[in-house]
Amino acid sequence: MTTPAPSDDAAGADALMAHAPAGMSEELKSGLLQVYARTRDRQIGNTASTLRATAEPGTLSDRIVADAFRLTENLMQASPARASYACGKGCSWCCHQQVRVSGPEAIGIADALREAYPDAWLAQIRQVVAQRVERIEGLPTIRAYLEARLPCAFLAQDGGCSIYDWRPIVCRGYHSLDRAACQEKYVDLAQPAPPIDSYAHMAANAVLHGVAIAVEAAGKDGRLYEMHGAVLRAIDTPDAAARWARGEDVFAGCRRSASVAGAG
Ligand code: SF4
Ligand code: SF4
Repeated sequence: MTTPAPSDDAAGADALMAHAPAGMSEELKSGLLQVYARTRDRQIGNTASTLRATAEPGTLSDRIVADAFRLTENLMQASPARASYACGKGCSWCCHQQVRVSGPEAIGIADALREAYPDAWLAQIRQVVAQRVERIEGLPTIRAYLEARLPCAFLAQDGGCSIYDWRPIVCRGYHSLDRAACQEKYVDLAQPAPPIDSYAHMAANAVLHGVAIAVEAAGKDGRLYEMHGAVLRAIDTPDAAARWARGEDVFAGCRRSASVAGAG
């Protein structure tokens, strides 16, 4: 059986392979494609089980995300390249590119912000996110987004991620093996892409696609969105979790994401 692409904006394994380092052997590419297929199908099963087992609509997106984060973290721990990561707190060249999320991830971030901060602070955060959304509207392509060098709204002043526990799946799967190469690429987009952990990148995106496929099969929105716009919509929709679970088009009009890149 061929598993369908999650939606027309989730690029699937072939597009992800376009990010594989030059010179990767055919054997390794084929191994990565197997990892992708296995992981995606496992996540489809996990999310389908969660959908079946969750009676309370308001908790569904939370449970789907928690389950997807769990598999993502397990796979990250298992990565053979883990010991060679160049990433560390305060290093954030990668947090200036478009990040894509599923609806449940955006709802989870909005709920976490709502829970963590008093209303006045949440209003300030909302304003920063809204400013980003406005700016992003003028950046029609991935290239334009990169050229703008727009920092993620959740990038803290110390270079850390202010929503670390709720950071998107693609952020969890983006790890460079060469910090200097990340900086060089940020400064000069003509430089080669930094070498990343292709296993982690592929596995994390497979989890995301698995979620998307399973929720679409259940008649809910499994499309992938540019993170700021989706989070803004979720902040502005206090009952977003229950509405999404009922199959409503909570993210109508939000910018979809065609990016297969992530940030770490
Ligand atoms: S991916 Fe690159 S820029 Fe991002 S934390 Fe890792 S080394 Fe730093
Ligand atoms: S890790 Fe992701 S969510 Fe966090 S600051 Fe970086 S790009 Fe933003």
